[in-house]
Amino acid sequence: MKVHIKQEECILCGNCSSTCPEVFILEPGESSKITKEYRGKNDSEGEVGEDMLECVQSAADSCPVSIISIEKLLLE
Ligand code: SF4
Repeated sequence: MKVHIKQEECILCGNCSSTCPEVFILEPGESSKITKEYRGKNDSEGEVGEDMLECVQSAADSCPVSIISIEKLLLE
């Protein structure tokens, strides 16, 4: 599934990176990023397996400005 962070609206609160550090990283003074392990073509988006759904969903739920989105790929 795909994960996306609308970085321009990030308030740098750190909730996502403390809730799911495997997928989200917050560096001083910068908006949240997807960790290198899961990063896509840029650091605002990534691709993670179903095993990370709970982690990513908890992070999305913890975001006070609701800018983390999860797109589940439909099986054919
Ligand atoms: S929880 Fe949301 S606002 Fe907070 S650092 Fe993560 S993406 Fe940014």
